[in-house]
Amino acid sequence: TQVIKPRIREILSKELPPELVSLLPKRWVKIGDVLLLPLRPELEPYKHRIAQVYAEVIGAKTVLRKGHIHGETRKPDYELLYGNDTVTVHVENGIKYKLDVAKIMFSPANVKERVRMANIARPDELVVDMFAGIGHLSLPIAVHCKAKVIAIEKDPYTFKFLVENIHLNKVQDRMTAYNMDNRDFPGENIADRILMGYVVKTHDFIPKALEIAKDEAIIHYHNTVPEKLMPEEPFETFKKIAREHGYDVEKLNELRIKRYAPGVWHVVLDLRVYKV
Ligand code: SAM
Repeated sequence: TQVIKPRIREILSKELPPELVSLLPKRWVKIGDVLLLPLRPELEPYKHRIAQVYAEVIGAKTVLRKGHIHGETRKPDYELLYGNDTVTVHVENGIKYKLDVAKIMFSPANVKERVRMANIARPDELVVDMFAGIGHLSLPIAVHCKAKVIAIEKDPYTFKFLVENIHLNKVQDRMTAYNMDNRDFPGENIADRILMGYVVKTHDFIPKALEIAKDEAIIHYHNTVPEKLMPEEPFETFKKIAREHGYDVEKLNELRIKRYAPGVWHVVLDLRVYKV
């Protein structure tokens, strides 16, 4: 959270109708040297000039108008307002994340979870990340916990950055990437720990996660849940599906990551699963 820089106000108050100055964005997100700026519709006619001033004062090469994230591969729909290069390297918690901010989601609200992953595993574990993205959650495990990681990502463009990030962070000796739908991943009974960093339909992937899991394993299970179904959900659904597949489950921890939509939370459960 930031307050509007006096310099931005000073420049733009000379160029905008006075009633619009108070609508200028007071907060923004900077990913590497790309700025994500939420802009009210009233500012539409001035959007390119506003973006240019923010870029110059804050120090960014490109500005995107913040929009929404959609669909199976969680693609953003941000409008380019200033500059043209949307590929950048974002450094967080000692990790280099290279990505195309215009086409790949990188949620500032998930920072706590990325940081939490940095000391979650032991070095002798094999961790499988079923929804790897650019390595959002599994690079911290490979870099800081020094565990072995298998990262699965379906989208070819996102996968390209995942592979680059493995090399940028010099973890190619312990992190391997697969460009495939995780349901086609052939490994069975191999993982000590599984990351399921996905939303909306994560429950569809529980049987596959149990197939990849060892007889006893930890699963970091993300999903989106209507507040009125909490705290029973999403644990009850997980437990039901796990039992159908011969596993019992113990809930170790539950965290709210962010509000996903009105009345809907993105949560993560740390679950111990074991074959019965
Ligand atoms: N796990 C990271 C996090 O929580 O910050 C990144 C999450 S990103 C929202 C989810 C990623 O999963 C996307 O890059 C998407 O392309 C990928 N994905 C979706 N369905 C998949 C599947 N069936 N198999 C492999 N990857 C998949």
